[in-house]
Amino acid sequence: MTALVQHWCDGKLWTGTSGRTAPVTNPATGAVTAHVALADIGDAQRVIGAAAAAFPAWRDTSVAKRAAILFRFRELLNERKSELSEIITREHGKVLHDALGEVGRGQEVVEFACGIPHLMSGRFTENASTKLDVYSIRQPVGPVAIISPFNFPAMVPMWFFPLAIATGNTVVLKPSEKDPSAALWLARLWAEAGLPDGVFNVLQGDKIAVDELLTDRRIKAVSFVGSTPVAEYVYATATAAGKRVQALGGAKNHALVLPGADLDLAADAMVNAGFGSAGERCMAISVCVAVGAIGDELVAGIAARTRSIKTGDGTGDADMGPLVTRAHRDRVASYIEAGLVAGAELVVDGRAVEADGSPDGFWLGPTLLDRVTPEMSVYTDEIFGPVLAVVRADSYDAALELINDNPYGNGAAIFTNDGGAARRFQNEVEAGMVGINVPIPVPMAYYSFGGWKASLFGDAHAHGADGVQFFTRGKAVTTRWPDLSRSGLELGFPQNT
Ligand code: NAD
Repeated sequence: MTALVQHWCDGKLWTGTSGRTAPVTNPATGAVTAHVALADIGDAQRVIGAAAAAFPAWRDTSVAKRAAILFRFRELLNERKSELSEIITREHGKVLHDALGEVGRGQEVVEFACGIPHLMSGRFTENASTKLDVYSIRQPVGPVAIISPFNFPAMVPMWFFPLAIATGNTVVLKPSEKDPSAALWLARLWAEAGLPDGVFNVLQGDKIAVDELLTDRRIKAVSFVGSTPVAEYVYATATAAGKRVQALGGAKNHALVLPGADLDLAADAMVNAGFGSAGERCMAISVCVAVGAIGDELVAGIAARTRSIKTGDGTGDADMGPLVTRAHRDRVASYIEAGLVAGAELVVDGRAVEADGSPDGFWLGPTLLDRVTPEMSVYTDEIFGPVLAVVRADSYDAALELINDNPYGNGAAIFTNDGGAARRFQNEVEAGMVGINVPIPVPMAYYSFGGWKASLFGDAHAHGADGVQFFTRGKAVTTRWPDLSRSGLELGFPQNT
């Protein structure tokens, strides 16, 4: 009998009453390591109830006290992040140093949120009209839901909950059922940091739990990250229920390499950004667009580096781990096959990989396909695996048109030594995050993370100024204190005098 990964409700572990569970596997061994509770509607309502009950007191807790708890959470996380990384590697499969990197990027958002006294301050105008003052305040929205994907079980929740909590909201986090334990570890850390019970809750589950979060009237805002079809559904359902929603979806990120670029730098970048975390990153480069005559040399450089990648168990010295489930591994492999049938050239075949790990792991080595064309499914679909497609283009304009015609618009990068071309690209490309000689342009915590087009539904990006805005509502207050010289009836619309 394996352990049960439970809910975290009102400051305590809770089994729930549904009796439903799903297996959690270690992708490097294929072994079932635990089962995760899957909430039914009643379980979801109880956890939402805990967040709703904790809201009034947390909302009225001083900004200074909230910031002090965030500072303690940051210190504990910094001291113990290797524990969290091990949990991530065990359930997701990514190599340990990559898991540690994920936690580090999440920690940056915690650090940003520690500045909440400054971030939440409003404005004040004395004598906006005679003896009348106006000021603005920002208030929390209420209990909020965070629904996260499997590929960043710690960082993606941390894009949202530090600011949600800092601004005075209470949280229900619904992690991916594929790697649910990181969320519980974070819940315990909050408790240790002194967060009152009920402010941070974890609801384990699947669509049933999600649907309840999207429709229960006590939840006021939803931050979702996952695939585009689910993001669209979440956005439509939760906005129809009157909630504020940011739903980040899938991606197909292109890197354009121009003649004259440093091809060694570009080849390194394609391999790092294409195969890091086995391509299971929403900011992975999955399409390299080689412009003009550099194509052959660039592909040769990428191929040599791709062949040197060591695939294996993330707890060892591998560069790249397994895929998250066997079904996902097989789905990604089927795209390679479909690409070959459609006429792509197989330069490096990951299907034949000899991984350094258990024979039952969900292995697929890095795969490089050249001469991919926009009609092929390996180009049109988000594959979310270690498959890098090279598309050849005749000119900058043709390459830009290809990128802008793609339905996704998360990240895009250009590799060039031509400052004018880089500046044009930054101006013209239709993507929310742009890299110039940087393959994975994930913004710092004090900027905001988010894509365009089918990569984000809603207006607000994650963290940074958008995050503060998303988790708060503005109020403008107009005040006048009794002054006998200004009394008397006046029924006209207020004028500034
Ligand atoms: P997913 O869409 O399958 O699941 C995301 C969350 O939604 C999970 O918590 C899951 O339990 C829930 N869910 C799944 N199906 C649902 C349904 N039918 N109804 C309601 N809820 C449902 O995504 P995933 O496979 O866990 O993660 C990978 C996807 O996430 C990729 O598409 C990737 O690009 C995307 N992603 C995007 C970003 C971004 O910033 N845009 C970041 C990370 C991941």
